[in-house]
Amino acid sequence: MAKKRFKIVSTAIISRFMIGFVAIWFFVGFIPKEGHKTQNDHTIFQLTQSFANIFIVEQDGKLLMIDSGNPQKGEVLESKLMNIGIDPSKIDYLILTHAHPDHAGNAYYFKEKFGIKILVGSGEEEMIKAQGSDMNLCPRGPLGLLIQQTHAKKTYEKFIPDICVKDSFDLSNIGFKGLVKLIPGHTPGSLFVEMDDAVFVGDLIRGQILNPKKPAYHIFMCNLEENLQQIKKLANKTHIKMWYPGHGGPLSAQKITEFIKTNKSNK
Ligand SMILES: [Zn+2]
Repeated sequence: MAKKRFKIVSTAIISRFMIGFVAIWFFVGFIPKEGHKTQNDHTIFQLTQSFANIFIVEQDGKLLMIDSGNPQKGEVLESKLMNIGIDPSKIDYLILTHAHPDHAGNAYYFKEKFGIKILVGSGEEEMIKAQGSDMNLCPRGPLGLLIQQTHAKKTYEKFIPDICVKDSFDLSNIGFKGLVKLIPGHTPGSLFVEMDDAVFVGDLIRGQILNPKKPAYHIFMCNLEENLQQIKKLANKTHIKMWYPGHGGPLSAQKITEFIKTNKSNK
C-alpha cells in the first residue's frame, strides 16, 4: 500500500516537473542573440520563442528566414526582429524545415503582411492543409507524450507555399548561396538548409533542454535507426562546422560526432 502511494506521489512530482519545463518553453519568450558569422558570407541571427528557433540569415544585404515559430506570435516576432535591427519587410524568403506548428506557425502572417515567399519540402502539403495537425508524431517517452497534448491544440492559418522542393533546390535560384535538400523522417517533407559551413536541420536532431548545446534525439521520431543514419550522412559533410536545430543549439560538428559515437547502431 505504502509502495503504491509512493508511486502515485512520485508520478505527481514528475508530472509537475515536466509541466514546469513546458511553462518555461511557453513563457520565456523570444531571446534575441547576436549574429554569428559563418566562414564566408553569411550572418546568422537566432531568435528563440517557447524553445522553438527562428533564424534570419543575412547575405550581401539580403535576408532569408528559416522557420517562423509557434502560432499567433507574428506580431511579437515582428517587433523582436525590429529590436535587433532587422526589418521584416526586407526578408525575401521563408524556408520551413517542415510544417509542424512550432516551425510554420507564423508563415501565413509573414506572407500576408510582408509578401515573404515561402519554400517548403514536398510531402508537407497535407499537414499544411490540416493547419499543422500531425497524426504521426511518434512521441518518445513521457515528455513526448506530454508535449503531444499541447502540440495537438496548436494550429495555424493555412498558407500557400511559393516553392515546393521535390528533392533538392539550389538557393542561387533565389539569390542566395546554399542548398536545400529533403531529408524525410521526422515528417515526409522535412528538409535541411546548407549555407557555407552552417546547416539548419529542423527537427532532425535537437539540443538538450538543460544543456542546449549538447545534441539529443528529437522527442517525436518514428524511426530512430533511420534518424541516426541520416545524422551520420549529414555529418560526413566535413566542411559543416555548426548545426542549427529547431530546438536548442547551436550544435558544433564535434558534439555531433560525439553524439554519433555514443549512439551506436546495429549497422
Ligand atoms: Zn517537428
